Amino acid sequence: MSAAKESRKESRKASLRKHAAEETIPGVEEARAAFAPALSAHLARPRAVLSALSAEPPQLLHLEGGEMAERMALALWWAALFNCDSDGEQPCLACPSCLRIGAGIHPDVILLDGRKESIKIADVRALRPVLGEKPRLGRRRVIVLAEAQSLGTEAANSLLKVLEDPCPDTGFIFTAPQRERLLPTLVSRGWVVTLPWPAADRALPAELLPWEEALAGFAREGRGWFDRTAERSAVDTPLARQIALLVEKAVAARLAGRKGGALSGVLRSLSDAELLALDETAAGSQDALQAQVNPLLVLDTLAVRLYSMLHPGQ
Ligand SMILES: [Zn+2]
Repeated sequence: MSAAKESRKESRKASLRKHAAEETIPGVEEARAAFAPALSAHLARPRAVLSALSAEPPQLLHLEGGEMAERMALALWWAALFNCDSDGEQPCLACPSCLRIGAGIHPDVILLDGRKESIKIADVRALRPVLGEKPRLGRRRVIVLAEAQSLGTEAANSLLKVLEDPCPDTGFIFTAPQRERLLPTLVSRGWVVTLPWPAADRALPAELLPWEEALAGFAREGRGWFDRTAERSAVDTPLARQIALLVEKAVAARLAGRKGGALSGVLRSLSDAELLALDETAAGSQDALQAQVNPLLVLDTLAVRLYSMLHPGQ
């Protein structure tokens, strides 16, 4: 490229940046909130690893472990690392570029979000035309696949093809609870950074312990649960969410081969496929709660499903 052309391009980029800076920039608070879970002290090590990797970033990076919010925030932090307006070893999280990334409106940070529903093949195909272009504002385009375990098989295969083509100035980051939940071919193509696992016994709030034991007991013997939910008219949506989350955590502990609480002990007889099915049921419970379904009904349904998985044919 000629020097004149190069300089025209640079000045166009500068004017784009200026133009973008004049748009309403999202509030610092909003953007900071998006990054906040990435900044906690126990993630200092993964942040340092990402910082070191950014010198020669892999085309595909996986973030596993931790909590979903931590993985998501760290993926955004990684995107900010390349596109922050100030050239530090860590993103400043305060410049217009960082703020845009935090608010989800940076043109070079593309989110395929599997947190609520599966990532479709159409979402992957829509990336193709974008990938041939240079980043618009920043230095490196970052494609975030949040909770990549929700990629359908077709979408995953299509993505593998995308990864075979060179995509200059573009990198992918996948988040997932654990690498075993992704296609092995996708895992082997990338670098894996593991966040500290949420300890199964990490301060389970005291009021949840009896619920976990009751659910584990019901899963084993089919008794004790309904008495508990019937007598407690106080099962509200936040509590029901926590209990559904207990099931998701117990599944995660089993899949990762970690020792979990009472509930994960009960799940010992389930195969990986059954565990994944149970995880989907628990995620479905969360959706139902989100949709204002009666929390008692949601929990009773979850408990019955758990029991019938452990006692097939009854
Ligand atoms: Zn910045």
